[in-house]
Amino acid sequence: MAPPAGGGDPEAPAPPAERPPAPGPGSGPAAALSPAAGKVPQASAMKRSDPHHQHQRHRDGGEALVSPDGTVTEAPRTVKKQIQFADQKQEFNKRPTKIGRRSLSRSISQSSTDSYSSAASYTDSSDDETSPRDKQQKNSKGSSDFCVKNIKQAEFGRREIEIAEQEMPALMALRKRAQGEKPLAGAKIVGCTHITAQTAVLMETLGALGAQCRWAACNIYSTLNEVAAALAESGFPVFAWKGESEDDFWWCIDRCVNVEGWQPNMILDDGGDLTHWIYKKYPNMFKKIKGIVEESVTGVHRLYQLSKAGKLCVPAMNVNDSVTKQKFDNLYCCRESILDGLKRTTDMMFGGKQVVVCGYGEVGKGCCAALKAMGSIVYVTEIDPICALQACMDGFRLVKLNEVIRQVDIVITCTGNKNVVTREHLDRMKNSCIVCNMGHSNTEIDVASLRTPELTWERVRSQVDHVIWPDGKRIVLLAEGRLLNLSCSTVPTFVLSITATTQALALIELYNAPEGRYKQDVYLLPKKMDEYVASLHLPTFDAHLTELTDEQAKYLGLNKNGPFKPNYYRY
Ligand code: NAD
Repeated sequence: MAPPAGGGDPEAPAPPAERPPAPGPGSGPAAALSPAAGKVPQASAMKRSDPHHQHQRHRDGGEALVSPDGTVTEAPRTVKKQIQFADQKQEFNKRPTKIGRRSLSRSISQSSTDSYSSAASYTDSSDDETSPRDKQQKNSKGSSDFCVKNIKQAEFGRREIEIAEQEMPALMALRKRAQGEKPLAGAKIVGCTHITAQTAVLMETLGALGAQCRWAACNIYSTLNEVAAALAESGFPVFAWKGESEDDFWWCIDRCVNVEGWQPNMILDDGGDLTHWIYKKYPNMFKKIKGIVEESVTGVHRLYQLSKAGKLCVPAMNVNDSVTKQKFDNLYCCRESILDGLKRTTDMMFGGKQVVVCGYGEVGKGCCAALKAMGSIVYVTEIDPICALQACMDGFRLVKLNEVIRQVDIVITCTGNKNVVTREHLDRMKNSCIVCNMGHSNTEIDVASLRTPELTWERVRSQVDHVIWPDGKRIVLLAEGRLLNLSCSTVPTFVLSITATTQALALIELYNAPEGRYKQDVYLLPKKMDEYVASLHLPTFDAHLTELTDEQAKYLGLNKNGPFKPNYYRY
């Protein structure tokens, strides 16, 4: 069976919102890495010029792809050399075998300080107090162009990376499919993301596709030291370690960009700090930078602000709002990790426990599904009648938090909002109630209100605090109200694979896009590329996708190779 998506037939009808403009020259590497090589892609990128749109979209539950003024930007199609993938025909149905020194800049961003634990560590370097900045280290090839906790941990990190590779089939497929063709040849990518085994697989894929990379961490706690060491050992200039100070954080970013004889031409950012740093310190660098790929809500929001102010000087891809991120990362990641986070911190049993989940968006839906499956009695709170109705029809009791706060065993916030759980709620909770957050920031639970003299805080374990009232009542607060799963559990590699593949394709697309395809604005990846990312993950499940017949395609007004849905489709 032929793989899905790829270059569409320019003559074939497309839904109005997807219909490409008049054919131009060339297909970018979006097509280059899409399976139907040799055809012209429908490279339509949706532009959202209003930063407020971000919020609109979240409120709408994820699909307001056309900006409020109705703007839909379609990138012109072009014809360009494409990479032929030797295995492209078979692949699809085949089962693939911060404390510290002076701050250098504005204060560190929230996303940089949210604690994040990526995986178990083989090595304990906590007793090594020497700052990596004060160490002289070399890898086995004699290079010292990196700064990690301990280069000797590389072997352990390599094992972590090998485990991650098994659950990142699409990136491995991209490496294989490129087969000598290097869609990122000449690309000099500076990256700022969590440095985990999964990121390492992404970086090594980018390397295999021809890119040179320099990398820093987007979070001061999240670096897996062994993995950073493994990357440094294999020649990647990585500047990151777990437990960086704020000054270290900016120093590491600076070491990635401020290099003699090397200047980045692509940015891969998660949180916007790297982009901010280049804007602030090295604005001239943007003359050579071809694009920014941004993953996080926060970073994307900043890009839209820059765009609105007319200050965005290069095209940017908003990966955060790709269907393949929203619908997979938020839902499945949380469904898979909520129990893990709760179990590791509290050893609790879920069966029969009463849980209230605040917010029934993607994250809330994932949490509720997991807890229900374990036999918990789940209540939901919502402000939006549509999500509320979904919760009801999924079999959950919709309540106001006040109605159940005295009786529940666990409170989980997933709203992205602030002060959802207030001091009043916390006062009324029963003894031993567990309180945690799965939303982006640590503002959902009013933790600050618990830092008052009459309440005693007792650290029980890492990321677990008892907050004790004068009468002896205690609540169990997890990760001080920060994201539970990122702080206390691991997240599934397979889900990260989907996001990482989307990032890789966004980089390839922006790097290879002919002049004029993307302007100085923020774009979403074309839907066909989202479909392509999904298709690359299907073989893991030995899934067999049905192909449209010619007659059916005509009947539906679709190209047989996709895109299969209009941009407003909600999935
Ligand atoms: P979403 O917009 O789909 O869902 C949030 C829901 O909360 C909405 O339905 C909204 O109506 C509801 N809500 C808002 N205020 C409320 C209130 N006061 N009481 C009850 N309900 C309220 O967003 P999402 O994709 O579910 O993401 C939720 C949060 O989780 C965001 O902050 C997001 O950044 C974060 N997130 C976390 C992870 C993770 O791994 N933990 C992954 C992805 C996203």
